[in-house]
Amino acid sequence: MRINCAIFSLFILVSSSSWAQQHSISSPEIESKISDLLDKMSVVEKVGQTCQITLDALLERDSFGNAIEPLIIDPKKIQEAIIEYGVGSILNVGGHTLRLDEWEYVMNHVHGPYLDKKSKTPIIYGIDAIHGVNYTIGGTLFPQEIGLAATWNPELALQFGEVTAYETRASGIHWNFSPVLDLGRQPLWSRTFETLGEDPFLASEMGKAIINGYQGENGVDSEHVAACLKHFVGYSNPMSGRDRTPAWIPEKYMEELYFPPFKAAVDEGALTVMINSGIVNGIPGHQNYHLLTEVLKEDWGFEGFAVSDWEDFNLLKSVHRTAKTNKEGIIMAINAGLDMSMVPYGPQYQEYCKLMIEAVKEGSITLERLDDAVRRILRVKLILGLYEKEMNQAKSYTDFGSKKHHEIALNSALESITLLKNEDILPLQKDQKVLVSGPTSDNLIFLNGAWTHTWQGDNVKFNTQGRFTIREELEQILGAENCLFSQGAELFNINGYEATQLVDIKDFKSKAAQSDVILLCLGEYPSTEKPGDIRSLNLNPEQIELAKIAHETGKPVVLVLVEGRPRIIRDAVENSSAIVQAYLPGDFGAKALSKLLFGEANFSGKLPYSYPKYDGQIEFYDHPRSVDRHKSDGFTAYDPQWDFGFGLSYTNYEYSNLSFDKSEISQRDSIIVSVTIENTGDMDGMEAVQMYISDHFASLVPNGKTLKSFNKISLKAGEQTTIQFVISHEDLEFVNAEGIWVSELGLFTVSVGELTRDFKLK
Ligand code: BGC
Repeated sequence: MRINCAIFSLFILVSSSSWAQQHSISSPEIESKISDLLDKMSVVEKVGQTCQITLDALLERDSFGNAIEPLIIDPKKIQEAIIEYGVGSILNVGGHTLRLDEWEYVMNHVHGPYLDKKSKTPIIYGIDAIHGVNYTIGGTLFPQEIGLAATWNPELALQFGEVTAYETRASGIHWNFSPVLDLGRQPLWSRTFETLGEDPFLASEMGKAIINGYQGENGVDSEHVAACLKHFVGYSNPMSGRDRTPAWIPEKYMEELYFPPFKAAVDEGALTVMINSGIVNGIPGHQNYHLLTEVLKEDWGFEGFAVSDWEDFNLLKSVHRTAKTNKEGIIMAINAGLDMSMVPYGPQYQEYCKLMIEAVKEGSITLERLDDAVRRILRVKLILGLYEKEMNQAKSYTDFGSKKHHEIALNSALESITLLKNEDILPLQKDQKVLVSGPTSDNLIFLNGAWTHTWQGDNVKFNTQGRFTIREELEQILGAENCLFSQGAELFNINGYEATQLVDIKDFKSKAAQSDVILLCLGEYPSTEKPGDIRSLNLNPEQIELAKIAHETGKPVVLVLVEGRPRIIRDAVENSSAIVQAYLPGDFGAKALSKLLFGEANFSGKLPYSYPKYDGQIEFYDHPRSVDRHKSDGFTAYDPQWDFGFGLSYTNYEYSNLSFDKSEISQRDSIIVSVTIENTGDMDGMEAVQMYISDHFASLVPNGKTLKSFNKISLKAGEQTTIQFVISHEDLEFVNAEGIWVSELGLFTVSVGELTRDFKLK
C-alpha cells in the first residue's frame, strides 16, 4: 500500500509521488459514447459482451469432432454466438498457425455480423502473439521474453513490441495476450521462459517498453494492438513448481516484487489484464476481490478490462471447490472484479450467458457491476477503433515478415545470448573443424519453444521455411566438410514428461575424433503450462552423460544451452571450455549464435535470473545478508552457478570514477551518480551497466542489494564514456511492518560493477 499524504517523522520518510497514475486511457468523449451505447443495450447484449469464446467453437467439424482442414467457419455457429448470444470476444487459432489469407477469411466472418449491422457491437479478437506473431505463417519470430530480458535493452523491447503489434494487425487481430509480467522466481515453473526474469525493476522497465511497442507511444492506431498484462498476480510462484498449483506470497513481497511490473504497466496505459488461474494464499485469482477490485482498479486506477484465463469461470466449482455451482462461480468472479470470461467453447458459453443473465435478473450481480464491466470492454473497443467499420487489409501491411523486421529479431537474439564461460576457445575460427551435436542442434522447434505455430510449439511440420537450425548455420559458415554432425542424444516427451535418449555414441565419438571442437547443444523439449511440468530442475542425466562423453574425447567442448528454464548443469560446467546461454532465441537464434561464436558480433547478454547450481538451493540475487551469515565458517551460502546480471564479452570493460553530486540527500531529494566505463579490449561491444543499492540498516530486513537502474551502452574498442544514474528518494523505499512503502534514514551503498560508494539519507 502507498498512502497519499507524505508523513515525515524523525526516522521515516513516506513518499507517495510514484503512486500517482500517469495515463488515463479514456476521455470524456469516449465515456459519453459508451453511455449512449449502454443505454441501447439489453441485459442479454451486455452479458454477451463479457463472454469470450475460442475460434474452435465456430469451426465446422468432421464426424470425429475434429476441425476440418483447411478450416471452415460454420455460419450457423456465427449466427448463434455473435448474433443470438452477442458474445463480445473471440480468441486463439484453430489448432495451428494460419496464413495471412486464412486470417483474413476468419476476420471477415467474425466481423461480418457487425459490418452487416446484424450486431450492434464489434468483436474484439485476442491472440497469444508472445514472441512475435507466432500464429501467423511468415510472421517474424523473436526470442521468448526471457531472452528479451537478457538483452537489458528497453529500446529492443520497444521494437519487438512494435513489430509484433504491426504483424498482429496484419493478421487482422487487435488484441495481444502479452506481455507476461509474472516474476520468474520459481525456475521449475514451465513458463519461466515467458517471464522477464527474477527482478521487478528489470521486468518493469522491459515490460513498459513492450507495452509502448504494442499500444504505440501516441495511441493505438492501425499498426498497434491492445496489450494484456498476464497473469495478475502471483501465478509464477507455485511452491511445487508445477503449473497452476498454490503460491504463498506475503503482502510485503507482493508489494515489493510481484506488483511492481503490473503497476508500472498500468501506469503506462495498458488496456487489459488477464487474471491468474492459480491460487495465491489460499484464494483463487478469479475470486480475489482485494486484488482485482481494491488493488488493480481502485488503488491503481486501472480503467481497462480484466479477462479471465482459460475456463476459469467454471474451475471455481470443478477444480477450486469454492463455488458449489457454475452460477455461483460466475457470480463470485464478476463480483470480485472480473470483466470478461474466457469461457471458451460451446455449449459452455450458452450456459455461461444463461446463468449470468439469471444472476443479473435475480440481483446477485448488480446492473451497476455489469455496466461497469461492459463499460470497460466497450472503452477498449472504442480506443482500438473497432467501431469504425474498417477491416484491416493484410496486403497494406507491406512490412509483414520483412527484412527490416527480421533484422530487429536478429538483433534481439544477438543481444540476448549470454556468454557464461570462455576459456579462450571462443571465438571459433573458420578453418576449424567443428562437430555440431546435441538434441537441440538441428531443429527450429527447440530454438522457438512453446507458443510457436501451435500451443506447445513441438510440431516440426510448421517450422518456418527459410530459417536455419544451429547445424545449418554452422554448415553455411564452415562448409559441409568442416562441419560434422552427430546428434548424440534425442529429446522427446513421454507421457507428458520430457525424456532424453543417447543415440549412436559410436558415431559421435568417431566424428569428435576428426574435429577440433565439439559444439554441444543441450536443453529442453518445447512445452508450456501443464505439459511443461518437470520433476526436477536437473537437466536429464542422459544430456549430462553426453557432455561427459564429449569431454572424454579430449576435444574442447563449447556447451550451448537452448532452454526456457535454467536447468542444473553443474556436472558439465567444469568439463566445458565455453558455455553459452541461448535461452529460446527464436527463428533467427541460430544465425545470431553463429555470428557470436565466430566473433562477427560481440556478446552483450546478461542473465535475467540467478542461475542455480543445485536443484535444492533456489535463491535470488537480492537475498538478505543473513543467507550468507555462516559463509566464512564454510557453511552454505548464496552460491549460484552464475549470478543475476552476469554475462561475459569478447572485450573487457573497466569501471572507474564512481562519484556522486552530493553525499547526503533528504526527503524528495535525488543524487546523481556518475561512473566511467572504458572498453579496454580490442573489440567493439555493448555493456549493460547495472546500478544496485544496499540499505545498511532498516526496521525490516533489508535486501543485500537491489537493482535500481541500468543502461545498455555501446563502446568501441578503446572508447570510454561517463554515464549518470539518478537515485531518487523512492529508490530507497521498502514495505515496512505496517505494509507501507517507506524509506528510513541512514547509510546506503551504491554499487556499479566492482565499485561502491556510500551516501546518507538524512
Ligand atoms: C494461458 C494464457 C493464454 C490463454 C489463451 C491460457 O491457458 O494461461 O496465458 O493467454 O490460455 O491462449
